[in-house]
Parts: sequence; C-alpha cells; structure tokens
Amino acid sequence: MSETSREIRLASRPEGQPTEENFELAEVAVPAPGDGEALVRNAYLSVDPYMRGRMRDAKSYVPPFKVGEVMDGGAVGRVVRSNNPELSEGDWVQSMNGWREHYVTDGSGLLPVADPGVAPVSASLGVLGMTGFTAWVGLTQFGKPKEGETLFVSGAAGAVGSMVGQLAKLRGLRTVGSAGSEEKVALLTSELGFDAAFNYKDGDIGGALSEHAPDGIDIYFDNVGGDHLEAALTRMNVFGRIPLCGAISGYNEEQTPPGPRSFLTVLPSRLTIRGFIVTDHYDLYPEFLAEVAPHVKEGEIRFLETVVDGIENMPGAFLGLLDGQNTGKMLVNVDDDAG
Ligand code: NDP
Repeated sequence: MSETSREIRLASRPEGQPTEENFELAEVAVPAPGDGEALVRNAYLSVDPYMRGRMRDAKSYVPPFKVGEVMDGGAVGRVVRSNNPELSEGDWVQSMNGWREHYVTDGSGLLPVADPGVAPVSASLGVLGMTGFTAWVGLTQFGKPKEGETLFVSGAAGAVGSMVGQLAKLRGLRTVGSAGSEEKVALLTSELGFDAAFNYKDGDIGGALSEHAPDGIDIYFDNVGGDHLEAALTRMNVFGRIPLCGAISGYNEEQTPPGPRSFLTVLPSRLTIRGFIVTDHYDLYPEFLAEVAPHVKEGEIRFLETVVDGIENMPGAFLGLLDGQNTGKMLVNVDDDAG
C-alpha cells in the first residue's frame, strides 16, 4: 500500500462561480490506526450541490468548510487495517470523511453500505443513499402524491430529480421533467419513463410547462428555484404542493435573488410550499429502503451515475456538477481496485 495519501483542501472561498484555484490537492502520510481504531481506504466520494453552500462563510444547516483544511462529504470505502474488534479488514463502510483517500476511525458515525445483492456499493451514496432518500422524503412526505396527478420536477436528470420522476411514475402520476441538454431530455422520456420533458435552456419554461402539463401541475418538486419556480407557481392546480428541495440556479449568486414575482399565486391557489432538509428525516430511512430497494433490485428503478476517476479530479467533478456535466449521481472513484 502506498505510504502517502491525498486529500482536497479548501484553498480560498469563491466569489460567484468557483474555480480550480479554490481547491488545493495535498499529500499527507497515511494515518496509522491506534488502539480501537481502523484505517479506511475510500473508494467513492460523493459530489453534491450543498457543498457549494459550505464554501461560503455563512451560518447554515451544516457548518462551512474551513480554509486550509480538508473538506468533507459522503464517502464509501473499505477497511484496510483494523485494531477495532467491530471492524474487519475488507469491510465496506460509509462515512462523512470524503474528499480524501484514507482516514482513521474509531467506528463512531459509520453507516452500512448497500446490500451487494441489491446494488453496487456506490449506490449507498446515490439511489439507496442520501440523494435517493431526499427524493423519497420530498415526494412522499411533502408532495403527498395521488394517482392520476401531474408532477413536475426540475433538475430531472440529476441524482434527486431522476429518482423523483421514477418514484412518482410508480405511484401512477403523470411526470414532466426539465433538464439542461437535448441528450438529458431524450434520456428522461426514453429510459426513465417520464411522460414529457423539455430543455429549460431553450428559454420559455412557462410555455413548455403549458404545453407539457396542459391540465396544470399538482406537485412541483423544486431542485432549481429562480425562473423555474416562478414559471411553475402560476401553473399550479388548486391545493397543489411544492416541496422546496434545492435552488441550484442561485448557488453561485453573491446577492440573494429577488423572490418569484408570481408568489401571490400561493394564496388564491391555496398552495403548500414546504422546504425540507433530508437529515431531519432519517427516522424514515428504513421505510424508504423497504419500499425502494426491491424496485432497484428488480431494475424497476434505474439509477444513473457519472463517475470521474482520481481524487485530483474531484474539484473538476464538483465544478462540472454545478455546470450540468453529470447525469444521475456524480461520484469520484479514488480506488482503482474498487471495481
Ligand atoms: P444533481 O445531480 O441534480 O446535479 C446538479 C444539476 O443541477 C446539474 O446536473 C444541472 O443539470 C443542474 N443545474 C445546474 N445549474 C442549473 C441552473 N442554473 N438551472 C437549472 N438547473 C441547473 O444534484 P442533486 O441531485 O444532488 O441535487 C439536486 C438538488 O437537490 C440541488 O438543488 C441540491 O442542493 C438539492 N438537495 C437538497 C437536499 C435537501 O435535503 N433539501 C439534499 C440533496 C440535494 P442540468 O444539465 O439539467 O442543468
């Protein structure tokens, strides 16, 4: 095993769009596990939009990254050395010790990985992990879907959005998705079962919604905010629900964008808008797994991954995520032997 390990540190805080200069690749000695500890070699690192918020020095639901220190996030890896009776060499574990190749743990805070009979370990970070669970929580708890209704989801070809559309379809809804390229739009209707999809970069989001959701929208699952939210609000059916999951169109803005001009529609249309953070709902994770894992195992839920190789390419993968270069879950593979 190599005696050095690599990690990514926050070099500086970005203003607006982040660049490679905001990150630093550092080499450190592989840490040695002490009594009761184990050494883990990460295999897959999760790349997520919320990390952009953590690059800001601002109070939020997760603390900011610190300049000069290793960043963190979801990761799955294998125990390679252990002085902990609970952890054996070869065990797969999930942690929040991402953005690095190795770490030492006393076992606290580790989570299991996906059942290999159901899906590969990488799915622990996607379809059966945080992003899949986010889709399920937002849809079932706050979207409150009913058969025959129409759901619109933005960011539909991403990790959360692609799951929202498929879960809604399984529940008998009509599904409409938006995404940022013709390839993604084609994928939504051909492989992910969406009834309709459109490329928001064509410009007229409101017109596309009127065309593809002619009977109005009952649930708008918002991953994007901004002009998507503004256009969806005026096309919501009475008593419609809007789970507010993310607002990625504004993550690089230095000034808070103005609220949607159509906000007052909420009143006559009696809409329910509900922001949520997935980490508040992990008591429901067993229910999610019981429902979703069989669909994944049977191939009734497709999960897509965009996998970038090498920790040195993690900043690029993160910048690519913000720029729409991923389809499905964005991951970085940092172990050639991970398979
Ligand atoms: P995705 O896999 O969806 O990747 C992000 C995607 O956002 C890109 O692929 C890109 O796709 C799209 N995008 C980027 N800029 C814009 C823009 N200006 N307008 C429209 N789309 C844009 O990421 P996730 O599935 O992990 O996350 C989706 C959303 O869910 C994010 O907003 C994230 O912050 C949120 N989230 C919220 C959680 C919660 O607990 N509330 C938990 C997890 C995620 P395209 O090519 O289509 O533009």
